[in-house]
Amino acid sequence: QKPVAHASTEKVCAVVDAGETQDTPSGYIDYAGYLQQGGYRLLTDCLSGDKSVEAVMSAMESSGLRGLGGAGFPAGRKWRIVGNEPGPRLMAVNIDEGEPGTFKDRTYLERDPHRFLEGMLIAAWAVGIEAIYIYLRDEYHGCRALLTQELAKLQANPPAGKLPEIHLRRGAGAYICGEESAMIESIEGKRGMPRLRPPYVAQVGLFGRPTLEHNFETLYWVREIIEKGPDWFASHGRHGRKGLRSFSVSGRVNKPGVHLAPAGITIQELIDEYCGGMQAGQRFYAYLPGGASGGILPASLNNIPLDFDTLQAYGCFIGSAAVIVLSEQDSAVGAARNMTKFFHDESCGQCTPCRVGTAKSLDLIQQSHWDQALLADLSEVMRDASICGLGQAAPNPIDCVIKYFPHELTETGTRTS
Ligand code: SF4
Repeated sequence: QKPVAHASTEKVCAVVDAGETQDTPSGYIDYAGYLQQGGYRLLTDCLSGDKSVEAVMSAMESSGLRGLGGAGFPAGRKWRIVGNEPGPRLMAVNIDEGEPGTFKDRTYLERDPHRFLEGMLIAAWAVGIEAIYIYLRDEYHGCRALLTQELAKLQANPPAGKLPEIHLRRGAGAYICGEESAMIESIEGKRGMPRLRPPYVAQVGLFGRPTLEHNFETLYWVREIIEKGPDWFASHGRHGRKGLRSFSVSGRVNKPGVHLAPAGITIQELIDEYCGGMQAGQRFYAYLPGGASGGILPASLNNIPLDFDTLQAYGCFIGSAAVIVLSEQDSAVGAARNMTKFFHDESCGQCTPCRVGTAKSLDLIQQSHWDQALLADLSEVMRDASICGLGQAAPNPIDCVIKYFPHELTETGTRTS
């Protein structure tokens, strides 16, 4: 059997794992339980030839499943693109889950890890992957212990055929390593800094090879989509959108947590139907539809579909669907200051618009009077000239405050929490 951890990471993992076994989640579906529930039957069908690569690829394309890490690239199309590149091909799985307010991947991983692993192995089979690198955020100690344990069981007794190499790698706590090319640099043992593109990671990715890069949750849904058919997934959705989304909801609602809801649901529907309404004494004031990067919207825009495309028209995006609900006890200015500080701390410093721009904008919005013309200039430069999404999205909260919460700027000093 191939070792689970890459040689270069084994020692580090061993040290950390020794004190972390008590963190291991309990009550999850382990390998034996998953097999009992019909798990890995689909993978067996694929490996035995009962299912063709073309049938699986087509099902993925028809389902409309898009990458659930934030970028939203159609998953089936990505499989096709990487599959058409010359081998050897590699796969990188992103479980860095660093976007503030996002906890869906951890929630699913701690309950049903083999559903994700089966989806990962089906993708590897369909695309012809030789080795898989799972990149797990370092803060998820228990998840690492769980995955190490379950991968060992899977590799000791594979359900069918020969498995590709599977390496489990630790992140080191950098938000930027959730960006796919920075993650790849980090897996290669380098400082996690985004690459210039092209070439795209689908062509020149991990160790210079064509790489299928996926978020955890995208792979989590593969088995269900293939088993139930692409129409099952596409049949969900509201307001003309298709599919399901796992919203990580936090803030001033009665039932925060991961809520699986139709794609295209509005914030008001999400709060009322899934989150048990607002907490007692809290009036809905504003919301962040996509963590720190997705901007801030006022409660008056409570009826727009939370989806990849619609929010762009409002200067926002859904990203990994981390929804943070604010009440009248909060302020958009306070949230923008908090997020800008976060981006400033997490900028990798590689390019000037982001490195200097986040510092400068943080300085400007700490003032009691915002220089809106200068902030607009800065925002434009950061969007146009930053190398990656961090610098491009960093001005979103500030732009949203100016656009949607001008009243807070005229009463500066009164709403800064
Ligand atoms: Fe690094 Fe920021 Fe440039 Fe991205 S935009 S490469 S995080 S400095």
